[in-house]
Amino acid sequence: MDFNLNLAAKDILGSQIETTQTQNGALPSVIVIGAGISGLAAARILHEASFKVILLESRDRLGGRIHTDYSFGYPVDMGASWLHGVCNENPLAPLIRGLGLTLYRTSGDDSVLYDHDLESYTLFDKDGCQVPQQMVVEVGDTFKNILKETEKVRDEHPDDLSVLQAIGIVLDRHPELRQDGLAHEVLQWFICRMEACSKVDAFSVNIDYFSEIQEQVLSGGHGLMVQGYDPIIKALAKDIDIRLNHRVAKISNGPNKVMVTVEDGTSFIADAAIVTVPLGVLKANLIQFEPKLPEWKVDAISDLGVGNENKIALQFDNVFWPDVELLGIVAPSSYACGYFLNLHKATGHPVLVYMAAGRFAYDLEKESDESAAKFVMLQLKKMFPNATEPVQYLVSRWGTDPNSLGCYSYDVVGKPEDVYDRLRAPLGNIFFGGEAVSMDHQGSVHGAYSAGVMAADNCHRHLLQRLGRLDKLHMVPSRGEIHEAAFPLQISRM
Ligand SMILES: Cc1cc2nc3c(=O)[nH]c(=O)nc-3n(C[C@H](O)[C@H](O)[C@H](O)COP(=O)(O)OP(=O)(O)OC[C@H]3O[C@@H](n4cnc5c(N)ncnc54)[C@H](O)[C@@H]3O)c2cc1C
Repeated sequence: MDFNLNLAAKDILGSQIETTQTQNGALPSVIVIGAGISGLAAARILHEASFKVILLESRDRLGGRIHTDYSFGYPVDMGASWLHGVCNENPLAPLIRGLGLTLYRTSGDDSVLYDHDLESYTLFDKDGCQVPQQMVVEVGDTFKNILKETEKVRDEHPDDLSVLQAIGIVLDRHPELRQDGLAHEVLQWFICRMEACSKVDAFSVNIDYFSEIQEQVLSGGHGLMVQGYDPIIKALAKDIDIRLNHRVAKISNGPNKVMVTVEDGTSFIADAAIVTVPLGVLKANLIQFEPKLPEWKVDAISDLGVGNENKIALQFDNVFWPDVELLGIVAPSSYACGYFLNLHKATGHPVLVYMAAGRFAYDLEKESDESAAKFVMLQLKKMFPNATEPVQYLVSRWGTDPNSLGCYSYDVVGKPEDVYDRLRAPLGNIFFGGEAVSMDHQGSVHGAYSAGVMAADNCHRHLLQRLGRLDKLHMVPSRGEIHEAAFPLQISRM
């Protein structure tokens, strides 16, 4: 074994070692860490290129921040639920088509707030009175104008600005865009929804980042995965050697081998490793790297932020709410606003999903499931005093779950230009995947998928070159038969 034993001596003593190393002439071996969509995509590509692949996952389930829960008797996504960009250019489109999955489109290309059109909202004030729809549309148009003006502010300020600072400057310059009374509360609700797009409060997210999210989004609008994201996870995982309940504690990078050690001391050795754990896990130093990560990599990890969002899904035995896509409660501050996604509209199941982002999402995690559900029911009863009690509920905790430690990455104010390049740069035989290293679509499922594909392609090329197997280099890893069916995307609302 040509592994650097000096680096690994402590791990080897008394621990069980599993080698996935290359025998003479055999194809290379890779350990993928994390069975979210990024790790699964990477593992699938290398598996289909006949590499020996082991995927180590800390949880007792697949999917990571994709978590389709079936305890209501049908799929409910407690993590990602939208496909952002319902178009053939979306890297997930071939998979979705091939699996025959249906999308429920919640917005078109030019929606003011990312994944929902203005007409799909029904808003209520704190006394349960419905906000006139005309006011919702008018304030929505004002909000669009404010956002347009923030672009000018952004261009004038070479230094970083937060979204809230930029909005403040616009309102100072254009007092006519300020809103009073109920209209002010509706404006706060739009800001609350904007915070939900980046999962972080408007005072800490970089204005460039929010504009980029809007600019870089693929065409075709946003579509809910009606059957949940789980079928994609299952399809990618098929026939892969996956070890659940394997929490990686240490990664030792030798000149020709990588040794990965899990919590119970078991070690795995391979020619290379692909790390796809969430940025929050890297930030918390839950994995020890040997040798230590270089300073430029550590800085990249700390220079990006991680936002939070939580969902509380409520299952009822009857539908007592109107047939609209989104029900919102307006308030004097964005923190106190709230909204429910009406899953009944998209799936026919009597489920409302309350969504909380930013600081509020963290605050909700301090509560027990029961009191979080009670709080949400109080909100619902403001809108519908006759609301019945839920039959069941589910509460997510993405911010404190040690397997995620947040929802997804975002640009903080003052972020250095090359932070993403440094984050995705490989270190010898260690490659990095995961949503945060995506080229253009951080924080999304399709971005995480592409980042996994990119890491696998880079690892594939690197190993074949290093191991002198250039004869195999022309073998572009296959994307598999599930990718190849050419049916149209099925969209249930156009
Ligand atoms: C509430 C919420 C809503 C979202 N909504 C959307 C949406 O509608 N549309 C969209 O496109 N995106 C959405 N996202 C973002 C999307 O879910 C993520 O960008 C994507 O799923 C990330 O995939 P990943 O593979 O990079 O990371 P993950 O899915 O987090 O996978 C990383 C894996 O690593 C594992 N892991 C962690 N630590 C270790 C360790 N020490 N050892 C081994 N394994 C470890 C984790 O358990 C996890 O399975 C949402 C996210 C959240 C949380």
